[in-house]
Amino acid sequence: MKKVAILGSTGSIGTQALEVIEKHGMQVTALAANSNAEKLAEQAKKYHPEAVCIYDPSKVEQLETLLKGERIEVLTGMDGLCEIASNESHDILLNSVVGMVGLLPTLKSIEAGKDIALANKETLVAGGSLVMKNAAEKGVKIYPVDSEHSAIFQSLQGNEGNKIRKIILTASGGPFFGKKKADLANVRAADALKHPNWDMGNKITIDSSTLMNKGLEFIEAKWLFDLDPSQIEIVVHRQSVLHSAVEYEDYAVIGQMGVPDMKIPIQYALLYPQRVECPTHPLSLTDYGTLTFEKPDYDTFDCLRCAIDAITEGGLRPAIVNGANEEAVWHFLRDEIGFLEIGELVRAAMEAVPGGAVTCYEDVLAADQAARAFVRESISKK
Ligand code: MG
Repeated sequence: MKKVAILGSTGSIGTQALEVIEKHGMQVTALAANSNAEKLAEQAKKYHPEAVCIYDPSKVEQLETLLKGERIEVLTGMDGLCEIASNESHDILLNSVVGMVGLLPTLKSIEAGKDIALANKETLVAGGSLVMKNAAEKGVKIYPVDSEHSAIFQSLQGNEGNKIRKIILTASGGPFFGKKKADLANVRAADALKHPNWDMGNKITIDSSTLMNKGLEFIEAKWLFDLDPSQIEIVVHRQSVLHSAVEYEDYAVIGQMGVPDMKIPIQYALLYPQRVECPTHPLSLTDYGTLTFEKPDYDTFDCLRCAIDAITEGGLRPAIVNGANEEAVWHFLRDEIGFLEIGELVRAAMEAVPGGAVTCYEDVLAADQAARAFVRESISKK
């Protein structure tokens, strides 16, 4: 019986992972959430982990009260996340927290020699070089959970030793596909939170609407599959049926298709290399009828270009872009800035904040903090 610890258990990926875990009788050793103490307590009572962690320290008391009488250790903060990540009890850590906060637990899990099912894309965006280097040294496996990266990973199976010509990274296009800047000036958070194909948390939904999500995934793909940025082609595919593909030297393109349901990539990451029944539904290609593919609109969606420029430059630049984006999205969700300002602030931070090489976690953290401070100052000066 496989033992799983989950960081981000109350989010969209975490709850779907628990469905997969329950279906296959896997054991849950630890659960961690950001601030939803009620939902975390409910999950803990159902899955009986050894430990739970609530990241927000102001929610610890509530969680302890809710779990009174249960033999479950209650942890909090970054220390709690790292304790769970490096614990001996689990076979695999599912890291599905949102944001740069996921990087340190990922590094701790690698240090402890624990395999990771990775859904926290900021881990690789901000600290990709560190994560991949440390994982290789420790022999730790990183299984991608993001649907696109899972599709690439699946398309690579059986092709060890064959050279990749390029990766086709598909993008849904987000809720503002086809719109131009003039159409987007007055967009508010509520408009951007309506996403067509996938059910996700707020931060990633905004990232999908700005196409920053695809930019982050571009960087994630570079690190996971050891590619040059020039080998990654982003293709807008509105139906989200082809989840990404790999083109080999012979021009054969191998991709992975399926309904847009995260349970398929989550299950593959947790049960790799097994393929067993998944709690989802089959794909009917004839129901879709037509699949479409087109080029992304880089002029309208600044964030996408920023992310590609950042990874092309390398070093700390992606961490700066990621930090600036996290901060800008936070303010956008509070209706403090407009939709187009997200891209403007990210671009300005990318140009203003000093870069440099990534030598350790502290470098990444400092670049992230500097980018956030830049964005906060720019907003306060408005
Ligand atoms: Mg994705």
